[in-house]
Amino acid sequence: MDESLESVYDEILRRNPGETEFHQAAYELLDSLRPVVSRHPEYTEAAVIRRLCEPERQIIFRVPWVDDSGAVQINRGFRVEFNSALGPYKGGLRFHPSVYLGIVKFLGFEQIFKNSLTGLPIGGGKGGSDFDPKGRSEGEIMRFCQAFMTELYRHIGEYTDVPAGDIGVGRREIGYLFGQYKRITNRYESGVLTGKGLTWGGAQVRTEATGYGTVFFANEVLKTRGTSFDGKTVVISGSGNVAIYAAEKVAELGGRVVACSDSGGFVVDEDGIDVALLKEVKEVRRERISAYADERGGRSRYVAGESVWTVPCDIALPCATQNEVDGDLAATLVRNGCVVVAEGANMPCTPDAVRVLTEAGVSFAPGKAANAGGVATSALEMQQNASRDSWSFAHTEERLAEIMVGIHDRCLETADSYGIPGSYVAGANIAGFIQVADAMLALGVI
Ligand code: GLU
Repeated sequence: MDESLESVYDEILRRNPGETEFHQAAYELLDSLRPVVSRHPEYTEAAVIRRLCEPERQIIFRVPWVDDSGAVQINRGFRVEFNSALGPYKGGLRFHPSVYLGIVKFLGFEQIFKNSLTGLPIGGGKGGSDFDPKGRSEGEIMRFCQAFMTELYRHIGEYTDVPAGDIGVGRREIGYLFGQYKRITNRYESGVLTGKGLTWGGAQVRTEATGYGTVFFANEVLKTRGTSFDGKTVVISGSGNVAIYAAEKVAELGGRVVACSDSGGFVVDEDGIDVALLKEVKEVRRERISAYADERGGRSRYVAGESVWTVPCDIALPCATQNEVDGDLAATLVRNGCVVVAEGANMPCTPDAVRVLTEAGVSFAPGKAANAGGVATSALEMQQNASRDSWSFAHTEERLAEIMVGIHDRCLETADSYGIPGSYVAGANIAGFIQVADAMLALGVI
């Protein structure tokens, strides 16, 4: 790494002790910027990169609530408003026991460049809580969301900060959060949250967008290799919102998804995952993925406690969580003949995994490019809310597809122009960075 970038990274390590995921995300970005700082010394001189690495605002708050047994529970809430050079802070909320400041900062940091790549006017932020929704009743989920919003409401707004969902936060939670915001403020401010239900200000395709978008992106990658999804074997990790709709789109494009997973294990279904059943198990019944194999009888088997990446495939779509593919699993993918990896989750591949895949000639699409369809469609939801309009499914999906193709092409063109042809990592980092950096220069030292 260049000396000035190295010193920025050292400062990140010193000022953010213990936040390993944030260090990892920052290193990955900085590592791509070497050709940029030598061509554009103005970014170094105006300390743009140093400013970018320090969140504009970090909010940490107590979330007290009462569980079904009458006991008081205390969780911790976060909102990191990382960068607003391009628009209001935008990014999801994650409810998961692993959430701490380092996770929220890594996600918020990635979100800046992802949102920039969409070409839409949104800054970067992220939030969440260490609340574990697993095993909680409907009433507990609602009370937790209300308690969380009772503090968060004062920090957000259509022109300030617009949260959405992420792991553990879907339409149900957005509903309770929006309800509490409306109750506290006495304002029906649709544009304050995205991922809303279709009858109360939500947008068509938002639910499907991250998964669909990842597959649209992977499809463009396959085209550059002179091939397509048709007849290909695909493995998808996870079985949440991203995984389900990625599986749906792969099947539509002629691919066969043979396995998907949850944190307990994975299911293999050689006939191709039955997406309708997967939705029923995960979205309606909210059960573990093993229930999918039970329902399919002999046609599917459940494997507990192992990684889904041991299942051979042509195309891998990691759609579960950060650092789920390490160097060894990446080597297994390569050995099994995988040629494309597109990240539906945020940072699911470790730096080791990315190195192994790249060295083996696998096309690797990083999350900040490949999974940008979710937040891009959130920005389309904001547009519809601002104009009190709602678009059809077909029109919205067409916009999403255009945006994904645009991001794909921009990554490749940028990588080319900086002498790193074919690198989606370099292309995404550089293109995402330059747009934010130029806006920061224009807005002065703020
Ligand atoms: N959580 C999603 C992401 O990682 C979506 C955020 C949004 O729609 O604001 O990009």
